[in-house]
Amino acid sequence: MKLGYETLDLYPRHTFTISRQEETGEVFRNVLVRLEHDGLTGWGEAAPDIYYGENWLTVGAALETFRPLLEREKDPWGAENLMMELDRCLSGNWSAKAAVDMALYDLQGKLCGRPVYEMLGLDPDAAPLSSFTIGIDRLEVVAEKLREAAACPMLKIKLGGPEDLEIMEAVHRANPEAVVRVDANTGWTPHLALEMTEKLVDYNVEFVEQPLPEGDRDGMRWLKARSWLPLIADESCRRLEDVPRAAGLFDGINIKLAKSGGIRHALKMIHTARALGMKVMLGCMIESSIGITAAAQISPLVDYADLDGAALLADDPFRGMEFASGRLSLPSSPGLGVEPRAG
Ligand SMILES: [Mg+2]
Repeated sequence: MKLGYETLDLYPRHTFTISRQEETGEVFRNVLVRLEHDGLTGWGEAAPDIYYGENWLTVGAALETFRPLLEREKDPWGAENLMMELDRCLSGNWSAKAAVDMALYDLQGKLCGRPVYEMLGLDPDAAPLSSFTIGIDRLEVVAEKLREAAACPMLKIKLGGPEDLEIMEAVHRANPEAVVRVDANTGWTPHLALEMTEKLVDYNVEFVEQPLPEGDRDGMRWLKARSWLPLIADESCRRLEDVPRAAGLFDGINIKLAKSGGIRHALKMIHTARALGMKVMLGCMIESSIGITAAAQISPLVDYADLDGAALLADDPFRGMEFASGRLSLPSSPGLGVEPRAG
């Protein structure tokens, strides 16, 4: 196989802000990965997050480390062994590994002429409805975003700022029927989180994602025993080994390919969470339709989808899964079913 890659700058329609923000939220520099084999191209995308220790430069360095292993491999079917080799030669770097993993699935699907969901035996019509995310902003900007999202029956609201309750009031006024998910992105203390869960019950909130900093296990244990709403781990659950650690502290986990290391690791996390009686959410970073469509391939296995990363973009350079107001339709073409948009 032959490896190629380049940076991919993505611009959200609105500056994307969350409670723990290291960068401006105006542009997201991802890395587009191509694995070529037998005249076919497998696409992958790395969506590195500095919170998890990655950016486009570390992704490039990781891909150069992987290059000899990838280019020595004769075809994409030995993917499980190959991905284990990548893990042995370089720890971490999960978004870089996720991009390679997506490209391998894409190639496998193209070689056998089947979409990835079909290779995995999944029914694309079983994909759950996805939420559409409203980032933290001034109230008037939140109101504008809510108008744009008026047709979405499921919203995810980023909280963890000083105007949390005013934002929830605006959401409720704009769309009283919407099912709402709240993501505090580590922004609360245990007592504030408990108080918030009690208040959020009145706003049609389904669950709260990552209320506390990821290492606050005692705080989570205290909160879980008292919370008015289910609690989902995101920052606290990155990889397979984090799933059993999150059991007892959270009701479910939010899996993202950029954290897990790709589809094959995400599948292992889903089954582990099920064995522990936990709910499963499938989320994303700001990603083009490559990363989002890759995640959507396994969405029929999860309870909650939050796959709006490409729908938030001003200009998605790829075509793949469609997001019609949160209703996900997976492409039926082989592999991931993604292709560059013309022009
Ligand atoms: Mg989150």
